[in-house]
Amino acid sequence: KPETSESKCDVLIVGAGPAGLMLATWMAHCGINARIVDKRGTKIFSGQADGLQMRSLEVLDSFGIADRVWKEANHLIEMCMWNPGEDGKIRRSDRVPDMPDGISRFYQIVLHQGRIERFFLDNIKKYSKDTLHVERGVLPESLDISENLCGDHSADNYPLTVKLRHLTDEEATPAQSTSSTIQDGLFRSNMVEDDTDDLIRRSKEKQGTTEIIKAKYMVGCDGAHSWTRRQLGFQLEGEPTDFIWGVLDIIPITDFPDIRSRCAIHSASSGSMMVIPRENKLVRLYIQLTEIKPDASGRADRSKITPSTIISAAQKIIAPYNLTYEYCDWWTAYQIGQRVGTNFDYKSRVFLAGDAVHTHSPKAGQGMNVSMQDAFNLGWKLGLVVKGITQPSILQTYQTERRKVAQDLIDFDHRFSRLFSGRPAKDVLDETGVNMTEFKEAFLKGNLFASGLSVDYGASQLVAKDKTAEAQVAQITKNEDLSVIKLGMRFPSHQVLNQADGRPWQFQTRLKSDGRFRLIIFAGNVLSPTQSALLNSFAAKLASSSFLAKYIYSTIDVLTCHSAPRTAVDLLRDFPEVLHPFDPKLGWDYESVYVDDVSYHQGFGDAYVKYGVDKEKGCVVVTRPDQYVGYVGELDPDKGWEGVEGYFKGVFVGK
Ligand code: FAD
Repeated sequence: KPETSESKCDVLIVGAGPAGLMLATWMAHCGINARIVDKRGTKIFSGQADGLQMRSLEVLDSFGIADRVWKEANHLIEMCMWNPGEDGKIRRSDRVPDMPDGISRFYQIVLHQGRIERFFLDNIKKYSKDTLHVERGVLPESLDISENLCGDHSADNYPLTVKLRHLTDEEATPAQSTSSTIQDGLFRSNMVEDDTDDLIRRSKEKQGTTEIIKAKYMVGCDGAHSWTRRQLGFQLEGEPTDFIWGVLDIIPITDFPDIRSRCAIHSASSGSMMVIPRENKLVRLYIQLTEIKPDASGRADRSKITPSTIISAAQKIIAPYNLTYEYCDWWTAYQIGQRVGTNFDYKSRVFLAGDAVHTHSPKAGQGMNVSMQDAFNLGWKLGLVVKGITQPSILQTYQTERRKVAQDLIDFDHRFSRLFSGRPAKDVLDETGVNMTEFKEAFLKGNLFASGLSVDYGASQLVAKDKTAEAQVAQITKNEDLSVIKLGMRFPSHQVLNQADGRPWQFQTRLKSDGRFRLIIFAGNVLSPTQSALLNSFAAKLASSSFLAKYIYSTIDVLTCHSAPRTAVDLLRDFPEVLHPFDPKLGWDYESVYVDDVSYHQGFGDAYVKYGVDKEKGCVVVTRPDQYVGYVGELDPDKGWEGVEGYFKGVFVGK
């Protein structure tokens, strides 16, 4: 007779790829009783995604992971474009910076997904005090939803019942291709059938150990073939394309001069290739396999694809330069498909994140990044709802905010893939070919989208964006660029100094992912008596608010940044206590008040100008726990204060 145990958890995560691990990281940082299971016996060790965009690095930094990634990764600085000249031979037509300057303190880097998963696992271990682990070789077999319980988010309600099955080591190990001895990622590629149903069937026959979990919420981070999505009956909408791509991670032996730069190479008639220089002398090649075509059913025969077919396609594209290798770390092949999920959640109880709700080509380096950011958007919301702090209705913003990003991603990928995969135009009359100037422009424009920094969440309970607010914000913040504070967008980073000790900080690094909102008071010129009076009255309202008393500091961190000269101002004399509270055991808080002034060793951040904030009058900003700006208003004890309190009344539980 099979053993079946029963247990309860608040959040069950299915799948431990980048999306699942990001979600588990939030659970660890928020102290939530969560479980995370994955059908595979091990994490991945090589290959798959490798690009980390600027926003992802900012996010990883907020959890304390970015420095490890930054040190180990290869940094992408330059992008070279190679196109056929008049003689039909490829030549370098352009060299541009890989990413525009000044929009983030990071730029794009590459490190394989297995290392990033490693850093997540270490961080989860540390913050969960070793209580949250990925349970590997565990497969959900059934999901039952008590429909009548879904609407009630009270603490003792567990509407989800999931049966988990524990697999043997052999079942949990993905099959590798028989055509080569090198590690391949075909088992995750869309060119291979998913094995989930097969595993459930075979394992049931063996009557292995099963377990019943009662959960409040569940998140399907189970990749492109998502079992969770299928249980909910949701579809991915979109189309496969005819473009088949091979991927090789090799140490190249070549006379091609730009092998250590990111390159887009369009050959005259042998297809195109992307070169991504990687860590440890590796280079990733994304190669279009023009000789392999899908059959009538729309699928290509993957057995015809091996590392040697991929390298010979690459050799034709890069000719007359030579390219071979002695060492290949990993390879795969896939057919580009661009699809978005119809629904991202079921009744705010079961959610889908990452590849489970969007698939697209990997060339723009988006999959891992957008997948992590889905989970980054959802994790804190779940955490605060489970803890009974925020209203459960905030969970609805997950779909409204992330589905739009996924849709934009697919549109972007559609345009970019066509330009990348197409044959270069011979001349202006060649209408079926791709114009290389158009490609370059699309690349430069696409870069901003790809950085992840341009995400702009719409009006909701969490983003106080209405016409009046927008007009007000337009007055307070003046510019249009990404360095300015904008409602619905991530809080940008500029250098400010700690008032107490003069140390320079990137302001965004003060916005840790600890599940807290931030009330950021740009206090303006506090040497002006009028401004100082406004600040004091605003602070008095904050200190005496009976609604916020329960939340201040524990769920709302208060940060202040003024624009008067640092040495003309004194922390204890000029700033009300609520802005730098006193603890009988720990003394004054010296880490909450900052200034926009010249530093001793690292120049001037000029943060007020860059943020677009008036230096005299300042303003008040509320950021959500994921650093997105939810409210911007004036620093005054009447309208400004009502705006802040009103924002929190709309989000937190209580009256
Ligand atoms: P996945 O990484 O697919 O993780 C899903 C997890 O769920 C897996 O661990 C799987 O074992 C588990 N699972 C699946 N089904 C079940 C089940 N029924 N029960 C339990 N567990 C289950 N992205 C980039 O950003 N940059 C790149 O350069 C890039 N290059 C890529 C190159 C290749 C060749 C491929 C294949 C992908 C690439 N991607 C890239 C895409 C990227 O790998 C994915 O978008 C990303 O891994 C998605 O993360 P995820 O967590 O949603 O899903």
